[in-house]
Amino acid sequence: MKILAVGRNYSEHAKELNNPVPTEPVVFLKPDTALLREGKPFYHPDYSADIHYEVELVLKIKKEGKHIAEKFALNYIESIGIGLDFTARDLQEKCKQKGLPWEIAKAFDHSAPIGKFILINEFKDLKNISFSLQKNNTLVQKGNSADMIFSFEQIISYLSTRFTLKKGDLIFTGTPAGVGKINIGDKFEAFIGSQSLLSLEVK
Ligand code: MG
Repeated sequence: MKILAVGRNYSEHAKELNNPVPTEPVVFLKPDTALLREGKPFYHPDYSADIHYEVELVLKIKKEGKHIAEKFALNYIESIGIGLDFTARDLQEKCKQKGLPWEIAKAFDHSAPIGKFILINEFKDLKNISFSLQKNNTLVQKGNSADMIFSFEQIISYLSTRFTLKKGDLIFTGTPAGVGKINIGDKFEAFIGSQSLLSLEVK
């Protein structure tokens, strides 16, 4: 399986990092070794002094597809969950300045913690999914799928023109404003609505 991710998909987050609001999706990938399953701790690596949390809705793909039209795109989603797109911001800044690829800042081991998933037909309105992240029991990020620049349909359609989507692939759909640094000892809990779907401790 592969992990595809969209960056800068919420305008308030693009602005907080002084990035332009994109006119087409900003895309990067993480390997399967980036996954960190529900309940496992994240061991802070020493190659970055500024790893940020980014809470994101995550789509799990149901079946293989390529060149998927937007009007059929939702048929390719099995379930929706919550994940953290851990980003070594200090390394990413260097990459950006030099115009280099982002993998060392985005795709390292366990940079993609994921929680439990909810089947797509259990959602009443895909354009109104609220989600949030607490750090040490304090709310640090909240978002709603209504505020995405590129919708689930647009993301799936766009990605599938470049990358054949396969069953089990995951798509991180971007983070709202409020990203920040993780520290050893932090405890994170992520929610869709009021449902707690992911908890993680930094060690
Ligand atoms: Mg992200």
